[in-house]
Amino acid sequence: MTHVVVLGAGYAGLTTALRLGRGQRVTIVDTAADFTERIRLHEYVAGRPSVSIPLTEFTKGRDIATVRDTVTAIDPERRTVHTGGGREITYDILVYALGSRTDTRTPGVAEHAFTVENASELRERVRAGAGSVAVVGGGLTGIEMAAELAEAYPGRGVELVTADAPGDRLSVKGKEYLRAALERLGVTVRPGVRVSHVDEGMLRTDKGDITAEVIVWAASFAVSALAAEAGLDVDDRGRIRVDDTLRSLSHPDVYAVGDAAAVHVPGVGELRMSCASGMPVGAHAADAITARAAGREPAQLNFRYFIQCVSLGRRAGLIQAVRADDSPKEWVLRGRAGAFVKEQICRSTVSSLRLLRRTRHGYWWPKRRTRSAVPSAPTGSSSTSSR
Ligand SMILES: Cc1cc2nc3c(=O)[nH]c(=O)nc-3n(C[C@H](O)[C@H](O)[C@H](O)COP(=O)(O)OP(=O)(O)OC[C@H]3O[C@@H](n4cnc5c(N)ncnc54)[C@H](O)[C@@H]3O)c2cc1C
Repeated sequence: MTHVVVLGAGYAGLTTALRLGRGQRVTIVDTAADFTERIRLHEYVAGRPSVSIPLTEFTKGRDIATVRDTVTAIDPERRTVHTGGGREITYDILVYALGSRTDTRTPGVAEHAFTVENASELRERVRAGAGSVAVVGGGLTGIEMAAELAEAYPGRGVELVTADAPGDRLSVKGKEYLRAALERLGVTVRPGVRVSHVDEGMLRTDKGDITAEVIVWAASFAVSALAAEAGLDVDDRGRIRVDDTLRSLSHPDVYAVGDAAAVHVPGVGELRMSCASGMPVGAHAADAITARAAGREPAQLNFRYFIQCVSLGRRAGLIQAVRADDSPKEWVLRGRAGAFVKEQICRSTVSSLRLLRRTRHGYWWPKRRTRSAVPSAPTGSSSTSSR
């Protein structure tokens, strides 16, 4: 029996663990006892009752052990994981799926701003207050947060502060709809503003100070330093560099999936931090591990982007068609229809995990049509973004 230890039970790690097959003993290590629907954290902040599902709901009936503990170090030479609870867990194969967290390195952010990692405190703070909210970050996460709060707390004054234009990777139609939808919700967009540091209730920016009762930081995401500290080959953002089977370039018994991996797909490019790519990547890593255990050469990852989706409160959404490489096409679906599709996509992540519990092959993802095998390319330094 090969012992596969999966670090992190988020979208990617859980997908890998559930897709692994017979002949593998699987242990999942995660700080939390619950799976967090991270893609709904902005909904939770605005009042959704819960985004947590006990991990046991996904693992029951499966031969998967769960360890609730925090990973503090990895020793790849001794194939051992160390935890905050004093455990030493040895592995034959390690799957590194520790995800990402909001990057709080801008001065004052850690002290004076809320992030999705402290969603419960943010939710209570917004609920208890009466003043304005400033959301920093014009990527999809910041946009969704600002829209959700503006809809849930009309008249409070929600500002979206962003260095670039919000949603700058959307099509012209997509951007137009986004601008109109944010305006309708009463979100004041402040594009072209760089925040240099954060004080209590105050953003210090290159365009002057911005005051707000509550500051939410959603500008960028960063990964844990554990992989780099362990001596694994990582890119300039600390993500593990992997080949087209998700195997570490430096340590063949380590695989990396999800936000913590720097994945390059020929014809697609560097995958962005997203659950849209994290789950397919997680599934493919499991298939590669299973193939190698059976003495077969694993296939290379085949994945393509298909759509990007943005929720704009509960009553509107934007579905943006994209090419394989994530660049926008002109086609968009807007309004209530967009909200409906986005909701189905959010639900499908959890229903896919539930299905994987019952049948390892009950999961499908969009693939590129290839006439012949595409030569693989090593991962280079990253120019990818998070959503
Ligand atoms: C508000 C918001 C909305 C989003 N919406 C979308 C969307 O619509 N579509 C989309 O594709 N993406 C979306 N994303 C991005 C998406 O959530 C992430 O890309 C995705 O969660 C990454 O999956 P993952 O499995 O790599 O990491 P995660 O889902 O973050 O899971 C990582 C796991 O590792 C555990 N962990 C971390 N460190 C340790 C440690 N040291 N020891 C033990 N356990 C640890 C955590 O507890 C967690 O369970 C959104 C993100 C946010 C914040």
